[in-house]
Amino acid sequence: NEQIVLAKRPEGVPGDDVFRFEDIDVREPSDGEVLIRPSYVSVDPYMRGRMSDAKSYVAPFEIDEPLHGHVVGEIMESKNDAFEKGDHVVGVLPWQRYITVTTDNISKIQNTDVPLHLYLSTLGMTGQTAYHGLLKIGQPKEGETVVVSAASGAVGSAVGQIAKIKGARVVGIAGGEEKVNYLTETLGFDAGVDYKADDFAEAFEGAVPDGVDVYFENVGGEVSDVVLEHLNTFARVPVCGTISSYNNREDDIGPRIQWILVKTQTLMQGFIVGNYADDFEYAGRQLAEWVQEGRIHTEVTVEEGFENIPGAFRNLFEGKNLGKQVVKIEG
Ligand code: NDP
Repeated sequence: NEQIVLAKRPEGVPGDDVFRFEDIDVREPSDGEVLIRPSYVSVDPYMRGRMSDAKSYVAPFEIDEPLHGHVVGEIMESKNDAFEKGDHVVGVLPWQRYITVTTDNISKIQNTDVPLHLYLSTLGMTGQTAYHGLLKIGQPKEGETVVVSAASGAVGSAVGQIAKIKGARVVGIAGGEEKVNYLTETLGFDAGVDYKADDFAEAFEGAVPDGVDVYFENVGGEVSDVVLEHLNTFARVPVCGTISSYNNREDDIGPRIQWILVKTQTLMQGFIVGNYADDFEYAGRQLAEWVQEGRIHTEVTVEEGFENIPGAFRNLFEGKNLGKQVVKIEG
């Protein structure tokens, strides 16, 4: 067996020296426990925050302790009546090749007719993030303009497609021509803008002739500065994340936006998906229905092999993923 522990707190983008691979024994499950073999491991931007010891909404990862996150896996052995060998489960679990745990943090996957990695994306945490952030805080109305950044990623692609289902005009922001074309050609967005292009600010202005009613914020930084200049009166800004700052060594600075909020009477609200846990069940059913009907296209970028988890994690900050980044663990 093998696990990945946090060797030290990173500065900037986490290098290989931040992750340490350790040999450990496979532990036989005791009463109430199960032995799980991961099939897919999720890597997510929020994990960068947990690698630091800055105060946040969730406790930091401990040095020399295994990193953990969402995992889809198969039960290899069960000493718990609620789970059988062969069941597929999803939960927050340590990065180990074999995992012996109590069942508090896992749930059984009922529908295994869809690709199982979807339980790490649209049918899992990132889908729920898009759903609640957009619909509860963004509240897009028919004909309004919804803008989303990191638009080709796991959360952003779902946000834009849900906004389309709700009848909004959707503009996505992503890095590079290929991703921007993907937004309009595959995901059906009305426009895409490349934030890495020199003329980003002008191109963005051209893409929102009626201004911005909802800005689903995933990146912060200079992208955000440009978008906030175009807010309409009574705009809503669900603040989901600011990935452009996660590897910063110093605090981000930028324009003081309070006056924009006053003059446009904008509602800007940060949120954490976990606070909507009571609503996960119905939202999950709705997301599954949209996926089944082909109204939400789900993209995944798969890295193969347990040893490639650190590299897959870095992909997120280098924009190497399209849709959800996962790691497939060979059986
Ligand atoms: P993505 O699948 O969107 O992957 C990250 C993407 O971010 C990359 O593909 C890249 O796309 C973009 N990116 C990376 N660095 C930068 C940068 N410096 N400037 C602009 N864009 C950048 O990840 P997720 O969908 O999982 O997460 C998206 C956001 O949602 C993150 O901010 C994350 O922290 C947040 N989040 C928040 C949750 C909550 O509960 N509040 C829950 C889940 C996610 P590109 O090539 O276009 O640059």
